[in-house]
Parts: sequence; C-alpha cells; structure tokens
Amino acid sequence: MKHQETMLNTLIKENGLNGFSDEEIGDDHIYTGLETPMKTDAFEISDEEKKEKIEHLFAQIMDVMGLDLTDDSLKGTPKRVAKMYIEEIFSGLNPANKPKVALFDNKYRYNQMLVEKNITFYSNCEHHFVPIIGKAHVAYISSGKVIGLSKLNRIVQYYAKRPQVQERLTNQIAMDLKAILQTEDVAVIIDAKHLCVSSRGIKDDTSATVTSYYGGVFMKSDKIAELQNYLNE
Ligand SMILES: [Zn+2]
Repeated sequence: MKHQETMLNTLIKENGLNGFSDEEIGDDHIYTGLETPMKTDAFEISDEEKKEKIEHLFAQIMDVMGLDLTDDSLKGTPKRVAKMYIEEIFSGLNPANKPKVALFDNKYRYNQMLVEKNITFYSNCEHHFVPIIGKAHVAYISSGKVIGLSKLNRIVQYYAKRPQVQERLTNQIAMDLKAILQTEDVAVIIDAKHLCVSSRGIKDDTSATVTSYYGGVFMKSDKIAELQNYLNE
C-alpha cells in the first residue's frame, strides 16, 4: 500500500500538475497525491528540536509583521504555536503518534454494516494553514476481525492532525482502515467546512465540501443507500 502511494506521488511529480501554477493549486485546493508529501529526512531531528526551530521562526514572522514581541500578551506566542503544531494540530505527521489498533475476532458474528457517524474532527488546510472543521462518517463490514469503536475515531483524528486536503484525508482514512480491518468493504464520508473558503478568498460562509470513498461492497447502490439511510437517521 505504502509503495503504491509513493509511486502515485512520483508519477504526479514526474508528469507535473497539468500546467496548473502553484497559486492555482492552492486556491483551487488541488492535491498532488494520496501520501502526505514529506521530506525523506523528516524525522532526523527530534520533536524538541522542531519546537525550538518553529518558536524561533514564528517569532520572526510576527516580528516581520511588525508585532511587538516584548508585549506580555505576545511574547509567549511563538513558543505556544510551536508546542501546538508539534504536539497537537500537526501531531499526525509523525508515524510514532499513529494509534495502536488491536484486532479482535468478530465473536458476535455481526456481519452487517457497522457505521460510526458524526466523528467531529479539526484539521488544517495545507494550502493556507487555516482550519478545516467537519464530521467524518466511517463504515465497514467485518471480514472476521473487528476493532474497538473508539479506534475508528482515533484513526480519523490521526490523519486530521496534518496539513490536509479533504480528498486526501478521506482516502488516507479509508486506506488505513482497509489495511487494518483486512477488507475492501470500507466507506468514508467527510462533510467539512474550510475556513480558507468561508473566512477569506471567496468568503462563502454557507458552502460545505463532501468527499467520499466507497470500497468493495460499498460500491453497490443498495449498500450506498443503506449507509445513507443510517446517516440520515
Ligand atoms: Zn485552503
């Protein structure tokens, strides 16, 4: 799976982005691949070192903007931002923070659809670094193995805590669930608001973006209808 993702990213890199400029990619929220683009040396420095560097660099950004960093209210901000980036809102970049998921035998032989809906998540748009706020709905049909319900939630949160685009977030959750649950029968629907759309740029406060992944039996219209029924309840 990992290998496939890397190949997809390489393919896009080699073939370019169909002539779109960096500006267009950002404002139209086009994304380049399933895998979060990371440098090969991303984890050669520790989280502590990363926090120190970010604190220093964020102070520079504030300084360039003309903010007075000796002010009591502002002086702690670079450190707070650095801590928040590494420990909270972007903690999902580090594979060490991936939730540990135990598989259990499906003792109850529950062989119908399991839906965990309305999982609230907070992510950040990788093009503007402003919040994406939404709900994820996750469904699967057991292939003989099940995971704890809270783990579905944790997997969503892990991938949300990265700079993201919604399509990639949807697919990353789906691919991981397929691998963990050893089944193709996985569906992920995400309904989210992008603050870069609602609070800046086009300033549309009412639109929301819905993305979905339907794998295995979820590609059949009766299963999609059944899932939609649960979501509408
Ligand atoms: Zn954006």
